[in-house]
Amino acid sequence: MMIERITVLGAGTMGHGIAHAAIAAGYDTRMYDVSDAAVAQGRASIELIVTKGVDLGKISPADAEAALRRLATTTNLAESLHDADLVIEAAPERIDLKLALFAEIERYAPSAAVIASNTSALSITEMAGSLKRPSRVAGMHFFNPVHKMKLIEIVRALESAPATLDAIETVSKRMGKETVLVRESPGFITTRVNASIGNEAFYMLMEGVASARDIDKALKLGLNHPMGPFELVDLVGLDTRLSILDYLHRSLGEKYRPCPLLAQYVKAGRLGKKVGKGVYEYDAVPQTRGRE
Ligand code: NAD
Repeated sequence: MMIERITVLGAGTMGHGIAHAAIAAGYDTRMYDVSDAAVAQGRASIELIVTKGVDLGKISPADAEAALRRLATTTNLAESLHDADLVIEAAPERIDLKLALFAEIERYAPSAAVIASNTSALSITEMAGSLKRPSRVAGMHFFNPVHKMKLIEIVRALESAPATLDAIETVSKRMGKETVLVRESPGFITTRVNASIGNEAFYMLMEGVASARDIDKALKLGLNHPMGPFELVDLVGLDTRLSILDYLHRSLGEKYRPCPLLAQYVKAGRLGKKVGKGVYEYDAVPQTRGRE
């Protein structure tokens, strides 16, 4: 199916980034959130990305203006959905909330619309299973910050139709992204590998194999990782990482058992950059959020 109109549900960290990618790719885009404040904040974040793009010469002022004209924002869910070809759900990571939202999508969006969820870990098959036609649902896992990160993991749920996956891939390419196709499974590719590396790094720290700084340095300079595992977990949040590992441990087994040192850091309130201390200590509390 030909996608021309995209509706993004949620205007937060991911939603505004996805809506920006959509307008930059030439799609008529509606961005919905539950409050005027959230919508306004999402729009301001998009305008900032576009303005920076103009300053850096990545986009002409005329193209920037045209892109922003393609963006409509609303707190009216029915209105945001009524003519969508593709709905991308980027609401908070809670299954009850996502299931309620999927029921509303089914009610208000055209029956032919493709539906994607940006969930990091929840079951897309479960969301799809709540609809009359689960074949039109798949995962579209973007990375933070969306305008800088190249990848989209396309997640095939149990009953995702080939046409659904094709439509999502076409949109991803037009957004200038690279894609990988993943069968639905806990943590997809990236979250699962990242959690493993991060957990292993904590075990090495606990065993006294090396200092945190040296483990980070080794992975950056020896393995060419852009960030060390402790720098990354401080950005993601140690509490977020612990809950991901708990989930992988429950669903995939023993090798994902969270390192006791990670659990202890979380108990100590060392949650990462967002609170000024994680594995490392920080002077100022920054505004940016993690990658998972
Ligand atoms: P966020 O908290 O920054 O934004 C969520 C937004 O959803 C908020 O603006 C909130 O007001 C809005 N919202 C609340 N209830 C809603 C509803 N009923 N309908 C629509 N919107 C509603 O969260 P986020 O980091 O953008 O995460 C959104 C989704 O993306 C989650 O599923 C998360 O797992 C996933 N994800 C996050 C990251 C990341 O690094 N932050 C990366 C990939 C995927």
